[in-house]
Amino acid sequence: MKFVGAHVSASGGVFNAPLNAKALNAKAFALFTKNQKRWEAKPLDTKTIDLFKKNLEDSGILPKHILPHDSYLINLGHPEEEKLIKSRDAFIDELQRCHQLGLDRLNFHPGSHLVKIAKKDPEYALKIAKAEDISLLVVAESMNRAIESTKDLNVKLVIENTAGQGTNLGYKFEHLAQIIDRIEDKSRVGVCLDTCHTFTSGYDLRIRKAYDKTMHSFDTIVGSEYLMGMHINDSKVKLGSRVDRHHSLGEGEIGWDAFRFIMNDDRMDDIPLILETIDDSIWKKEIENLYKLIVY
Ligand SMILES: [Zn+2]
Ligand SMILES: [Zn+2]
Repeated sequence: MKFVGAHVSASGGVFNAPLNAKALNAKAFALFTKNQKRWEAKPLDTKTIDLFKKNLEDSGILPKHILPHDSYLINLGHPEEEKLIKSRDAFIDELQRCHQLGLDRLNFHPGSHLVKIAKKDPEYALKIAKAEDISLLVVAESMNRAIESTKDLNVKLVIENTAGQGTNLGYKFEHLAQIIDRIEDKSRVGVCLDTCHTFTSGYDLRIRKAYDKTMHSFDTIVGSEYLMGMHINDSKVKLGSRVDRHHSLGEGEIGWDAFRFIMNDDRMDDIPLILETIDDSIWKKEIENLYKLIVY
């Protein structure tokens, strides 16, 4: 069975997120458990937690179909010590917040290496690959530390693939595999595939053959047993453009066929499938349209 929803607003308090999801007839949702653009957040109090759990129960949505997203400021691969420590601390805090809300996974972008190399440098490709390798090691180390310091919490660290914009890591399935390889407790790791990021990082999804090839690569390089969620977005930009620009479903470069393949793919059963499309006024319709693609 498929569980589709959207990244809903938690403004006014996290307890509003399940209400917003319910209003969309969603069976899943994503949320930020704190302001995603700020480092500081006040701790979740008992009243907030209780109301979140009550509203969630009323919505009929299960915790495993909720995919909280961490703050955009966190960079677990940061090359500078001080900022890396800040990111690692904030990330652990995010894991704890998920646990407090009874949620079992946290979605995050792996990070950025931030190394500036001139495009005209004759060794550009080599230097980029080296910067990425080093930063991927730092990301894995950050994750191992986070897992170690949240040993008793049943919250999975769900790495999202990226479009590969700027110095972002995670635009190749190999990056995800490299990270997972180095995680000591693999029961605490998962992956989230974003269709827009997958496509703009160069993996085609538009026709059956291309979709199967992309998913086969994912299976062999990463493994679909790690798939703990998906972001369902169309793309404003072309295949392989390495830019992150979401679009409404069917309006962009990807098109409806890819979403039909996903809605009929067993790999995507029982995980949150989350819209991050640009027009939230049509989310309800988009969710409805996704369900209509299922062939019984
Ligand atoms: Zn995403
Ligand atoms: Zn994106």
